[in-house]
Amino acid sequence: MDRRNFLKKSGLATAGLVVASQLSSVESLAEQIENETQFSLPALPYDFKALEPHIDALTMEIHYSRHHKAYVDNLNKACADNKIKAGSIEELLANISKYPAAVRNNGGGHFNHSLFWRLMQPNGGGLPTGPIAEAINSNFGSFDAMKLKFSEVAKSRFGSGWAWMVLRDGKLDIGSTPNQDNPLMDVSELKGKPVLALDVWEHAYYLKYQNKRVDYITAWFNTINWDTVNELYAAK
Ligand code: MN
Repeated sequence: MDRRNFLKKSGLATAGLVVASQLSSVESLAEQIENETQFSLPALPYDFKALEPHIDALTMEIHYSRHHKAYVDNLNKACADNKIKAGSIEELLANISKYPAAVRNNGGGHFNHSLFWRLMQPNGGGLPTGPIAEAINSNFGSFDAMKLKFSEVAKSRFGSGWAWMVLRDGKLDIGSTPNQDNPLMDVSELKGKPVLALDVWEHAYYLKYQNKRVDYITAWFNTINWDTVNELYAAK
């Protein structure tokens, strides 16, 4: 029996067609899912209670599992709704003026939080180490002077936003952005490559610190992962 006759007799020719059409619908479903999930929530590099007493476990859990997740979900939805196929989050941010507000807010939210988690660690803080320590001294005079300036900028950002230390034209600068904007966005007044970032939205500190943002900022300095800061500083 040749192949054609065998298929005819066994009814597999028809079955094969059904399988082929099912495969193609599986493929298109996979493509659809891929388009709707261009971005994903990165794993938290420590557990929720790891940054206590500086940042409490409940704040970490809500901040990561609800706030950050919502930015990721809403970014994927905004990209799908507007048929945006982003190469990378950085590319999206660099051209953010071309996209709707939902992409700006949620794209910024996703990038900023992904960076923020990496910039903290249990038993972090202390004096900066490595090349960033020298750069801080030469740009600001001392770590204390840098800390004072960063804290002042973080404290005085009105409403919700972020404080940043950025590298621009080989120099370090400190500034802030409103909402979920960041220094990689073409619309941002503050520009540069982020090397340090602090979330000063109330959701980042209100459960433990209520309205005392300054206390949160002071405590947060005890969580800084200077290895990550050095990595960001060294990266081209
Ligand atoms: Mn936040």
